[in-house]
Amino acid sequence: VAGLLAGKRALVMGVANDHSIAWGIAKKLSGAGADLAFTYQGDALRKRVAPLAESLGSDFVIPCDVENLDSVDAVFAALKERWGTFDILVHAIAYSDKAELKGRYADTTRANFSRTMLISCFSFTEIAKRAAELMTEGGSMVTLTYGGSTRVMPNYNVMGVAKAALEASVRYLAADYGPQGVRVNAISAGPVRTLAGAGIADARLMFNYQKRHAPLRRTVTIDEVGGAALYLLSDLGSGVTGEVHYVDSGYNIMSMPRPEALKT
Ligand code: NAD
Repeated sequence: VAGLLAGKRALVMGVANDHSIAWGIAKKLSGAGADLAFTYQGDALRKRVAPLAESLGSDFVIPCDVENLDSVDAVFAALKERWGTFDILVHAIAYSDKAELKGRYADTTRANFSRTMLISCFSFTEIAKRAAELMTEGGSMVTLTYGGSTRVMPNYNVMGVAKAALEASVRYLAADYGPQGVRVNAISAGPVRTLAGAGIADARLMFNYQKRHAPLRRTVTIDEVGGAALYLLSDLGSGVTGEVHYVDSGYNIMSMPRPEALKT
């Protein structure tokens, strides 16, 4: 794949550390020859993100808190100034109050529902709009979702509802931007041990359950998510838009555990 993305520019949003899914994607994009820009949320994360960016030859790191629209606008002003146009967007951003990532969905509060939806769903729509304006030669965008969007996953709660809305927005955005040659897809990753993943109650149990019951009998790595992202974000995926692509060791196809697994 060396050279697959030569001359392409990519904005990667959502690296917090070297366990982040966005980091797995960034490494693959860089390996394929893309030039990268990164956003980071707040000064504390700059210290982590800047050295990671540098290790991939990038000194283009921009602050962005998606709750603040001015900071989103500032990202695209910086991009426009330095790059003029660009080709690839990675959105790997989600947040919900940890106190509501346990127990019943029914107990979600209005305030946390709105905040979760804004950060984890609507931010992608706002960012996609600004990105598409600079994707004058066509482009490709990917956001990250999870199977708790379509099926009930204990404790995932309001985040599952936000991911369902995010997946629906991927389809609407794909229809909106398809005519200008911009593709929009989601990757539905299996559980990965990250900061965000750790916010979900009993994350370790879910992780181990997937290892035991997914067809591949293991979880996925951020490099594997990165590989699928490379396909969707490069010309390898040129005929694909509006899709939710599962990278989950096949877990989503199962209805119930194997009888043998239930007996042990
Ligand atoms: P992570 O903690 O490494 O990344 C989450 C990122 O979201 C962080 O970089 C954080 O700074 C950013 N973020 C949160 N609120 C923000 C805000 N207001 N403004 C800007 N950035 C903000 O965890 P991750 O697991 O790599 O998460 C990336 C994406 O992958 C998320 O959308 C998550 O829901 C999704 N995902 C994760 C898993 C998993 O098991 N870890 C599975 C499927 C999907």
